[in-house]
Amino acid sequence: MKIDILTVLPELLESPFAHSILKRAKEKNLLEVNVHNLRQWAVNEYGQVDDYQYGGGAGMVMMCEPLANAIEALSKEKKFDEIIYMTPDGEKLDQKMANQLSMKENLLIICGHYKGIDDRIRENFITKEISIGDYVLSGGELPAAIVVDAIGRLIPGVLNNETSALFDSFQDNLLAPPVYTRPADFRNLKVPEILLSGDPKKVDEWRNEQSLQRTKERRPDLLDEQ
Ligand code: SAH
Repeated sequence: MKIDILTVLPELLESPFAHSILKRAKEKNLLEVNVHNLRQWAVNEYGQVDDYQYGGGAGMVMMCEPLANAIEALSKEKKFDEIIYMTPDGEKLDQKMANQLSMKENLLIICGHYKGIDDRIRENFITKEISIGDYVLSGGELPAAIVVDAIGRLIPGVLNNETSALFDSFQDNLLAPPVYTRPADFRNLKVPEILLSGDPKKVDEWRNEQSLQRTKERRPDLLDEQ
């Protein structure tokens, strides 16, 4: 899978993909992330990509021309399955959306800044708008990194143990069961006996029960979705 990201702050996206699971995904050639500086398509030599908003009011708006030119230039190199704009008024990211996006081949993600991007770009170039939650951040870079992380770990072969993503929270609308590691006795706090039993069937049953119980307690709404 290839993900291209368009941003005015490429430095913000250096670290998130350079470590851990996403690093491994890149090394295994399962995921390629290319970050592009929107200022390459600036309207003048000062690197301008934003301007005052029509109708007045504080805050700059990202201009049509650099965005349209960038999208068109990048689209010549590959056909994007989705051209995504990160925005607080988009469709809220969830595990189901991450699963769907992980099956695509080429994605372009656009990070907004300031007041956001000119609405004509949203209307005419963007195919999907994603929010990471009901709060406002100052730029689309961290949201884009979250989307890439959520998708990247679902690409088959990225996680060491192929099945492990299947047991994460929200897959099957259930929260994950509690987990423990050594020592079995920490300051007299004991690991549940059953996990030490060595009986995989019993352990599985216990985990399923715990998942269900946690979901009932913490997110009963997930059970209604089934
Ligand atoms: N004025 C806009 C917010 C602009 S925030 C509004 O009220 O809707 C600046 C940029 O940060 C946005 O263009 C978007 O790309 C990004 N951003 C902020 N919060 C976000 C969120 N919850 N989800 C996704 N992107 C977000």
